[in-house]
Amino acid sequence: MRPQILFPLFADVANLQGIGPRFAKLLAKLAGPRLVDLLWHTPVSIIDWRRQSTVAEAPPNELVTLKLRVTEHIPSKVKSRPYKIRASDDTGFIDLVFFRAYGDYLAKQLPTGETRYVSGKIEIFQERPQMTHPERILTEEAFAEAPAIEPVYGSTEGMPQRTLIRSVGTAVERAPELPEWQDEAWLKKQGWTDWHTSLKKLHTPQSAADLDPTRPERRRLAYDEFLATQLALSLARARMRKTKGRTLKATGKLRAKALAALHFTLTKSQQDSLREIDADMAAPHRMLRLLQGDVGSGKTLVALCAMLTAIEAGAQAALMAPTEVLARQHAATLTPLAAAAGVPLALLTGRERGKERDAILERLRSGELKILVGTHALISDVVVFDDLGLVVVDEQHRFGVHQRLALSGKGNVPADILVMTATPIPRTLALTAYGDMDMSRITEKPAGRKPITTRAIPLTRLEEVIDGVERAIKRDERVFWVCPLVEENEDLDLTAAEQRYDELKAIFGERVRLIHGKMKSAEKDEAIADFRAGKAHVLVATTVIEVGVDVPDATVIVIEHAERFGLAQLHQLRGRVGRGSKPSTCLLLYQAPLGETARARLDCLRNTDDGFIIAEEDLRLRGAGELLGQRQSGLPDFRIADLDIHSDLVPAARDDAKLILSRDPELKTPRGEALRILLYLFEQDEAVRTIKSG
Ligand code: ADP
Ligand code: MG
Repeated sequence: MRPQILFPLFADVANLQGIGPRFAKLLAKLAGPRLVDLLWHTPVSIIDWRRQSTVAEAPPNELVTLKLRVTEHIPSKVKSRPYKIRASDDTGFIDLVFFRAYGDYLAKQLPTGETRYVSGKIEIFQERPQMTHPERILTEEAFAEAPAIEPVYGSTEGMPQRTLIRSVGTAVERAPELPEWQDEAWLKKQGWTDWHTSLKKLHTPQSAADLDPTRPERRRLAYDEFLATQLALSLARARMRKTKGRTLKATGKLRAKALAALHFTLTKSQQDSLREIDADMAAPHRMLRLLQGDVGSGKTLVALCAMLTAIEAGAQAALMAPTEVLARQHAATLTPLAAAAGVPLALLTGRERGKERDAILERLRSGELKILVGTHALISDVVVFDDLGLVVVDEQHRFGVHQRLALSGKGNVPADILVMTATPIPRTLALTAYGDMDMSRITEKPAGRKPITTRAIPLTRLEEVIDGVERAIKRDERVFWVCPLVEENEDLDLTAAEQRYDELKAIFGERVRLIHGKMKSAEKDEAIADFRAGKAHVLVATTVIEVGVDVPDATVIVIEHAERFGLAQLHQLRGRVGRGSKPSTCLLLYQAPLGETARARLDCLRNTDDGFIIAEEDLRLRGAGELLGQRQSGLPDFRIADLDIHSDLVPAARDDAKLILSRDPELKTPRGEALRILLYLFEQDEAVRTIKSG
């Protein structure tokens, strides 16, 4: 349960004075429905009410404060005319203009003959200065007491700034002093103030410089949030480690048989990852491990080795791929190796139906079938394993956590989970998005890989590119030709791809095939099969083609309008070539002139082939939110921290969380108690429950 000290902050904004149902709705939309949400609504600029001027000298269209004497009220005679109040100082006259006038109210606010401080923007109308709807009108006494500088918050239509300032102000006022959850020495080292002081400071900026998100008070609050998330992830991980899983141990004899069927040995990186996986599988807890590695780094093989361990230990294994094409490809690669090890393997997608499907399901239930490869069809209730021990999930960005767990829940004991991703994730992001998982990285490419030459070429030199394609065809090599995504419009993409297809077909005839997302699966398979077998040499594709398609004879990839692709995406696409023993080329066709970021992206690709370096550069160029796509990636939505600005704090928060839990796993010390409050403050209630249920 949420600690009492936080109750005031979790009150509904509708309880604020002066906030009726309409404003409450707007506040909820802007920041959130409770006071605590308002705390994270940070100022975007400031108003400096001190900027005083005179009627004669006030610069037009800038916010100024004038000290005026009210001389005359001129009510409007016609509805459409404004109510005007004439006022003056020693330098001249000015009209205060009100379109929605309430005479009584104005008479009270600006009584004739009295002095008021009036703030607003001056404009010149019919050669006379006027101020329409002043932003602030104060008596001399009130002016002396009012804040000279106020924050400005991002607002929404119908929400007056004044009401917003008052609401956030009240939330900050009601924020209690909380026990310190940060380490004192760390605070001192960083020069940070306590939570309450930091929060106050954040909401009372005194100059534009105070709005800088790298200010200490903002960093302190960001660190609080990172610490809360890292603690929550560590707790989830600790729990996972306590979840009883299978102990899957093997002598490695099945693995040896499969590897003997290959003409190469595992790279050191592959072996290192396997050692980590073996240790997890042998341990009594459940494995939850992310295997990262560039396209072609040999993750699938590592996964197979892990599956063979599970099978030698007497269990079954499943491999789930995000698309049918990929599932088929995995099955095709793994079948001969599984056969070499004497392990029965089958494929199950939406397309296996009727008797064939029933037979697979029956063999699976009886335990005779050891490896099942497929799409999310594997999650279906009719798929029942005799004894599922290991689940491998490929390309996890497309699956949610729930799907992973749904499949692994099919074991008698929760199955071990190995997630493979070919999108290297920058370290800070990996920590925030996948901190609940253990991580293995394959950083090395298999030996003998020929490097890929990457060139950027303007679209105007298309003919040279076509000549290059022709040469590749003459050598019996394969060419991918990727057409870009146009403005999220699949029909337009298709038109562009079809047009290119027609043009290439006019040159190369039947050797060209087209593949796109709107084709039926069988048609896609056929196109890929023809391409792989060499019946076709050029495969024109929209980006909806499965990026995992593996054709060792493909040596050229042309990416049209490369400037429209993201860095990670280009790298993924480039990984379609260079998988065999021949040298390969990646041609980035761009539309000149190139923007600065686009140029940086293309340069980066030409300079390196290391997915991890590219991922870091992508993060730098694009920022965290866009990098993975907030929703897809499972990246948490931070309230006050900004990964683009504060990500340097993540590793520290991570280490901090680890250390805290190693010393105080149940958060029982005084600092632990304070940390529980922190967890509730950032709504990591689930994490606290984890400790309780132990
Ligand atoms: P990933 O799944 O990481 O994209 P794969 O496992 O599909 O990579 O491997 C890509 C290609 O490299 C496959 O043809 C595979 O047989 C081959 N391969 C994998 N490991 C090695 C290795 N250690 N040495 C040589 N070739 C390898
Ligand atoms: Mg793969």
